[in-house]
Amino acid sequence: MAGFQGRSVLVLGGSRGIGAAIVRRFAAEGAAVAFTYAGSQAAAEQLAAETGATAALTDSADRDAVIARVRDSGALDVLVVNAGVVVYGDPLELDPDAVDRLIRINVAAPYHAAVEAARRMPEGGRIIVIGSVNGDRSAFPGIAAYAMSKSALQGMARGLARDFAPRGITVNVVQPGPIDTDMNPAAGGFKDLVYPAMAFKRHGRPEEVAGMVAWLAGPEAGFVTGAMHTIDGGFAA
Ligand code: NDP
Repeated sequence: MAGFQGRSVLVLGGSRGIGAAIVRRFAAEGAAVAFTYAGSQAAAEQLAAETGATAALTDSADRDAVIARVRDSGALDVLVVNAGVVVYGDPLELDPDAVDRLIRINVAAPYHAAVEAARRMPEGGRIIVIGSVNGDRSAFPGIAAYAMSKSALQGMARGLARDFAPRGITVNVVQPGPIDTDMNPAAGGFKDLVYPAMAFKRHGRPEEVAGMVAWLAGPEAGFVTGAMHTIDGGFAA
C-alpha cells in the first residue's frame, strides 16, 4: 500500500489506541507522519521507531502549544485530531476543572488545530476529527460532559466545511462506538452497558477506525465534507 506516498500527515494524539492505529495506517501507506502525545512517552517512542513517524510532546490542553505544533508542521495534506479524554460520572459530583480541561482537549484543540492547519493546507487537504457516537446519542447517565464535547465537533465540522470548501479542503468527523483501547477495553465492565444496544456485540478494533480515516483522507472522498461518519457496530441504529 502506498496510497499516501509524499503526503504530509499530522495526528494529534497518536501514541496509543485509535491514534496509534491511524499513525500505523498512514505510515504503511507511505505518508510522512508526525504525531503528538502528552503522557505516554515510552509508547510514543516505540511507535516512532516502529513506523518511522516523528513523535512530539504537545499537550492538547495547551491551546498555544497546539497552534504552534500545527504551524511548525508546515503545509499538511492531512490533519487528524484524535486526542480526547473522558470525564464520566454524576455531573453533580464531577470536578469542574476536569470538565473544563476536557473541553480544552476535546473541543478547543480540534478547532484551533483545524483553523491553523487550514492556513497552509494545499488544495485537496483533509481535516478529520475523531468524535464519538456519543455526539449523537447519550444512552446512559454520566456521559453528558463527554457527549457535549463530541456534539460540539459536529457544529465545528459543518461550519468549517463551508469555510474551507472554496479551497478544496474537506472537514469530517469520524464517530466511533466502543473501540477496544485503554480508554474502553473490551475486557472492561463497560460492555455490559453497551452490548445490549449494539447490533454487533463486540468492541470495534482501532484498525477499523483507521480504515475509515484513511478513506476520508484519500482521493475517493473529495466530495465528502461537513459530515459525520459513524462506526459503532450499530449502537446508534
Ligand atoms: P486512549 O485513551 O486509548 O488514547 C488516547 C490518545 O490520545 C493517546 O494517544 C493519548 O496520548 C492522547 N491524548 C490524550 N490526552 C491528550 C492530551 N492532552 N494531549 C495530547 N494527546 C492526548 O483513547 P482512544 O484511542 O480510545 O480514543 C481516541 C479518540 O477516540 C478520542 O478522541 C476518544 O474520545 C475517541 N473515541 C473513543 C472510543 C472508544 O471506545 N475507545 C469511542 C468513541 C470515541 P498520551 O497517552 O501520550 O497522553
